[in-house]
Amino acid sequence: MSQTVVQKYGGSSVATPEKLKRVAELVVARRNQGFNLVVVVSAMGDATDELIEKANAITPVPDRREMDMLLTVGERISMALLAMAIRDLGHEAVSLTGSQSGIITTASHANARIMEVRPFRVQDELDAGRVVIVAGYQGVSYKREITTLGRGGSDTTAVALAAALDAQACEIYSDVDGVYTADPRVVPDAVPLASLSYQEMQALASAGAKVLNPQAVEFAKHRQIAIYARKTGSQAPGTVVRRDAANAPSAVRGIAHRTRVGRVRADEADLADVQAFLRALTPLGASPTDVTFEGPYRGAFRCMLPVDDVEDELRAAAKRAFGPTAYHDGSGTITLVGERVGEALPTALEVLPQHRIAVAQVFAGAIRVTLVVASDRVEDAARVLHESLDVAGVQA
Ligand code: ASP
Ligand code: MG
Repeated sequence: MSQTVVQKYGGSSVATPEKLKRVAELVVARRNQGFNLVVVVSAMGDATDELIEKANAITPVPDRREMDMLLTVGERISMALLAMAIRDLGHEAVSLTGSQSGIITTASHANARIMEVRPFRVQDELDAGRVVIVAGYQGVSYKREITTLGRGGSDTTAVALAAALDAQACEIYSDVDGVYTADPRVVPDAVPLASLSYQEMQALASAGAKVLNPQAVEFAKHRQIAIYARKTGSQAPGTVVRRDAANAPSAVRGIAHRTRVGRVRADEADLADVQAFLRALTPLGASPTDVTFEGPYRGAFRCMLPVDDVEDELRAAAKRAFGPTAYHDGSGTITLVGERVGEALPTALEVLPQHRIAVAQVFAGAIRVTLVVASDRVEDAARVLHESLDVAGVQA
């Protein structure tokens, strides 16, 4: 029986009919190497953003269930067109929605998590010799509602399917040739990394690096699936994310940033309010970071929240729990990641003030250091740190 390879093509790789035809050729080439092929697709180009705009033109607060109905359409368009393009090249192909592919999720709309994958239909189609095209970013909840997996969720679909099908490899194709030492749009000196451990990639992804979705990396780690992040149609090796990454030559492997985060600060918080607040975050799909509470029953509570598209809800939840002054915006974060990242902290705290970038707060974890700075200084801070810590220079 042939081995299965799961590929995923991002929105920019399928943005036009021409690009879809090009992807069809790449898929067929891989298929001709003797692999069973499952291909996960994102929505074409900016289709998801355009659908969001349409909803916002109807109502300021679109219903979350209907929003999922709307947004899953984007991936259905690409899957059907890609299946047609592959058939045109003389190969059998069939497209399946997330629900048909057995992607079972939690019941929270807009930010559901995959609970289980039952890929019977996918396996049957592979056994029948077909290339299977799967709509990324979507599933069906155990309550039988159509759900979406959060922005960039097609990666998660791909890794989850690779795990469930016991695939040989999971290849994530986009318009960048791998994972960079920092966001190359912000830090022009950033270079691609040859390999990263799951932990390092997870830390970068949850700190805002957009190349791979954090839940996708979590799945890959859990099931020990190697992820290859490559540029569509390029011969460049890209980045492999796996268990035994090369020994890190440097204290800092990569830098991720978030221009905007929400900070919750309440000096006299009751334990019950802290609890209620944290509970309210789950249905919003928001996971707080750097939570501190000085107990036992009443004391200072702090946390940070990635804001994305739910900031109004987060602000309201903080207000309900801790009063009107607890939620603060205007800050962002820079996160340094690496096995020996602690060694870089003294330099970071020296060079940022030299560039008149005030560090409001520092959090250090096992393989990451997060620095809080003003939103409008985040990108400068990323450039300054990348340069002075010589992150690009010391990569193997
Ligand atoms: N189309 C969705 C998005 O733009 C999902 C994805 O691309 O992975 O977020
Ligand atoms: Mg997209």
